[in-house]
Amino acid sequence: MNTVITKKKHNFYAGPAILPASVLKQATAATEDFAGMGLSILEISHRSPQFTAVVEEATSLAKELLGLSDDYEVLFLTGGASSQFYMAPMNLLPQDGTACYINTGTWSNKAIKEAKLFGNVNELASSAESNYTFIPKDYEIPSDATYIHMTSNNTVFGTQHHEFPETNVPIVCDMSSDIFSRPIDVSKFGIIYCGAQKNMGPAGVTLVIVRKDLLGKTGRPIPTMLDYNTHIAKGSMFNTPPAFPIYVSMLTMRWVKENGGVEAMAEKNEAKAKLLYGEIDSNPLFEGTTAVEDRSLMNVTFKMKDTEMEAAFLEACAAADCVGIKGHRSVGGFRASIYNAMPIESVQVLVDVMRDFASQNA
Ligand SMILES: *Cc1c(COP(=O)(O)O)cnc(C)c1O
Repeated sequence: MNTVITKKKHNFYAGPAILPASVLKQATAATEDFAGMGLSILEISHRSPQFTAVVEEATSLAKELLGLSDDYEVLFLTGGASSQFYMAPMNLLPQDGTACYINTGTWSNKAIKEAKLFGNVNELASSAESNYTFIPKDYEIPSDATYIHMTSNNTVFGTQHHEFPETNVPIVCDMSSDIFSRPIDVSKFGIIYCGAQKNMGPAGVTLVIVRKDLLGKTGRPIPTMLDYNTHIAKGSMFNTPPAFPIYVSMLTMRWVKENGGVEAMAEKNEAKAKLLYGEIDSNPLFEGTTAVEDRSLMNVTFKMKDTEMEAAFLEACAAADCVGIKGHRSVGGFRASIYNAMPIESVQVLVDVMRDFASQNA
């Protein structure tokens, strides 16, 4: 069978998002013949030794890349990051306990809504009054809080926590859009969760990292499938796991490791962000939409000083094969997502489009 070679576009979509080209190639091959089994990965038993080896490698890669101690368990679940909005409080927060939340926008609000079903929620800080253009930093964490929840990178508004608070209260963190993008001190975290489809793999699997000693303290009955302990006891194999998304996520983690780990990712991500924000700040037609010190290295949000020009700029982007630039409907303007797999060459293409557009229209 002949493969039609189509020219690949520069993928700036926020999620599902770009994956490394070498990962896509291996994933494609595995849909034909996985591990020499003469079968597609889509049609094999999840209990086969070939597939259990994938889960084991994915688990140890996640541990290695994040530097996790044996206090933590790595789970591959379904239901998206959105299911963790309720699973985390259901498993951690006693009905009379209090969880603190930092509200940095869309995703935090959804997490807050679910947590209220299980216990008391103390919204410690919020940037709602500025439509989430910054990360709140001025707050004190009560020492008796069960946990503090943060969204490490706000995918919609383009803000990112560049630091996490010094506290003995465990941090529960939605890292959907910046997992494996930089080194973090994992010992501060009680739970880290992320939907795979931003920076780790395809949609369909959710990575959940749990500090074991925090579990089993709520006193409430938990449905079997929603109990972290069920999945810990069965190594993410209590029921049929999303085999293909786990496989592709494993390949992506391998790619991160082969390319120098999270430290090297951070260096590249900083260079890409510097290039793009540099253009936004120096180009007469554009401006950033968030506080400079809180700018996301993953989702770069910006707009035009003259919003009438935005449609023409999007056309110029499309003509240069740059796709996925249109901003989220709640923010407007533009958003260029430049996750781990995005090469700096593609960012340069976008920067060139911005420059050309300015020289033609300024
Ligand atoms: C995309 C996203 C989500 C939602 O993830 P799903 O897997 O679709 O449930 C949650 N939080 C953040 C920060 C996101 O970027």
